[in-house]
Amino acid sequence: MSPIALVAPGPGGWARALEPCGNRPFLAWVLREVARHGVEEVCLPGAPEAVRALPLPRPLRLRTAGEVPPDAPRWQADRLAAPDGTFEIATPPGLARARRELPALALGRRALLLDRDGVLNIDRGYVGSRERWEWMPGAIAALRRATARGWQVFVVTNQSGIARGLYTEADLRALMAWAGGELRAAGALLDDWRFCPYHPEAALPQWRGDHPWRKPRPGMLLDVLACWELDAHRALMVGDAATDLQAAAAAGVRGLRFPGGDLAAFLAAEL
Ligand SMILES: [Mg+2]
Repeated sequence: MSPIALVAPGPGGWARALEPCGNRPFLAWVLREVARHGVEEVCLPGAPEAVRALPLPRPLRLRTAGEVPPDAPRWQADRLAAPDGTFEIATPPGLARARRELPALALGRRALLLDRDGVLNIDRGYVGSRERWEWMPGAIAALRRATARGWQVFVVTNQSGIARGLYTEADLRALMAWAGGELRAAGALLDDWRFCPYHPEAALPQWRGDHPWRKPRPGMLLDVLACWELDAHRALMVGDAATDLQAAAAAGVRGLRFPGGDLAAFLAAEL
């Protein structure tokens, strides 16, 4: 089962949680931080259907009704500790403070966008299982450093192995869930990830074709930036292929070509 959380409104109720903070409802900020902590499904008992219109980081799923496991972690929509532990909101008067400070906090966020194969893990070609996964030297250390220094970290990866029938979408999701858990255990956060299973010459017809998410096109990067309300000018894309840099340029993001070796050493001056 995916990690699940219960988000309850503070004293002001759901109406208060949906009040604007910056240019987004306050609850949008809360849900983004919940997702950042590895939660994939959120129960919002009693919340209005309007919450479904909030900009949500995928793969966060919302349930406004239904059973919640008794041991689900509980978050309160008026009280939130930021990942770096320096920002806490409570209402009232915290909502006023949130209105004042969160937009600036958002503008200051930096995003590290990583290609997967050849950057996070050794590229053995179509890595779809843990057995074939080997961390790139320094990858975990690099992400730990990025997390500690306030970067949000994302993976954007072409996965034509799915189109070729070498592994399934479920295999890939399981592998990435495992990798995310390994990173969390090491003090590094992978905030979110995107993959593109399409390929123009796919063996499986449902994945055949060009797709705006397939690098060198910028769709995955643009989607991450939009979902997480990030500024392209404060993002950095690291990839080992020319197509990674082409996608970065098309998204307005600075790109760096990783030539292999130790990722932490390569990024030491950047993070
Ligand atoms: Mg690569």
